[in-house]
Amino acid sequence: MKAVRVKEFGGPEVMTYEDTDSPNLEADQVLVKVESAGINYIDTYPRSGLYQIPLPATLGLEAAGVVAAIGDGVSLFKVGDRVAYTNVAGAYADYAAVPEDKLVNLPDSCSFDQGAAAMLQGCTAHYLCQSTYPVKQGDRCLIHAAAGGVGLLLTQMVKMLGGFVIGTVSTEEKAELARQAGADEVVLYSEQDFETEVKRITDGAGVNVAYDSVGKSTFEKSINCLSRFGYMVLYGNAGGPVTEFNPATLGPKGSLFLTRPTLFDYLATREDLDWRSGDVFKWIGEGKLDLRLEHFYPLAEVQEAHRALEGRKTTGKIILKP
Ligand code: NDP
Repeated sequence: MKAVRVKEFGGPEVMTYEDTDSPNLEADQVLVKVESAGINYIDTYPRSGLYQIPLPATLGLEAAGVVAAIGDGVSLFKVGDRVAYTNVAGAYADYAAVPEDKLVNLPDSCSFDQGAAAMLQGCTAHYLCQSTYPVKQGDRCLIHAAAGGVGLLLTQMVKMLGGFVIGTVSTEEKAELARQAGADEVVLYSEQDFETEVKRITDGAGVNVAYDSVGKSTFEKSINCLSRFGYMVLYGNAGGPVTEFNPATLGPKGSLFLTRPTLFDYLATREDLDWRSGDVFKWIGEGKLDLRLEHFYPLAEVQEAHRALEGRKTTGKIILKP
């Protein structure tokens, strides 16, 4: 089968599209014929070495496809089932071996592309606004990179909960997408000082929660945007990792909360996986959640896809087709 392999850390050029053996199936695993794999910013970290993983490795953390074979101990799935998953490495490939406890059935109403797009970014947006900081009616929420994959979904989900969204983006084209997703206000943080803008928009009150996926370049100002008892939710590093922070500063700024959540913890149980993915699929089926499948690349052109993503050229979801 074909797969995208990484043998050394580096830029997009270290990803090679090559022949490799099909994965060995363990008793609790399902062999999925991948129809669509999702590309996520998080895929760039184990490629670049920001997240150190054992090499060689096959990248990719989410896909949708069809069950091609099952291990001896598998009881929940059968050959031919349409399925989707996230949080298992190896999706940039024709086939992936996935533990059955990570798989969900893909509803007939969802295409494979939608299934691949829903799992990682959809479940991330879900846990951020339902669990990390459960958004209440009238809450003021700052969402960075609001036209990105997670950003567009999080904006829509916060609006469903009755929140007021201030989104940040780097271009006017992205601003329009964020508005279409429901953002009440959009700040071009490439041109404007977003801290000043947030204070202006909120009449100095600040926001109840800052969802910050950019990190290094936005972290401190995001904290300054918070109201008393506000939540700083640092969930990504698209602009570089935050490496230094003094927790004592949280006190005088309003007894603030700081968390660095990960999807792995919020999808750790079958109950959470079914709840979050079930909500996302339901909202897609009902037309309440628009996935914005914006970019499609053949598996062989994965380097181009990563270049576009890291070059801030993409919006919404990027799909990889084996
Ligand atoms: P996006 O589609 O949001 O792409 C990243 C965006 O970040 C860019 O489009 C860009 O938007 C913005 N950005 C700001 N500064 C930079 C920079 N220096 N270089 C590149 N991009 C920059 O990606 P995803 O939706 O896949 O992921 C968003 C974030 O969420 C990532 O940081 C990812 O790690 C994180 N994440 C975290 C999870 C968790 O559980 N903790 C799970 C899933 C994702 P603009 O041009 O508008 O600034």
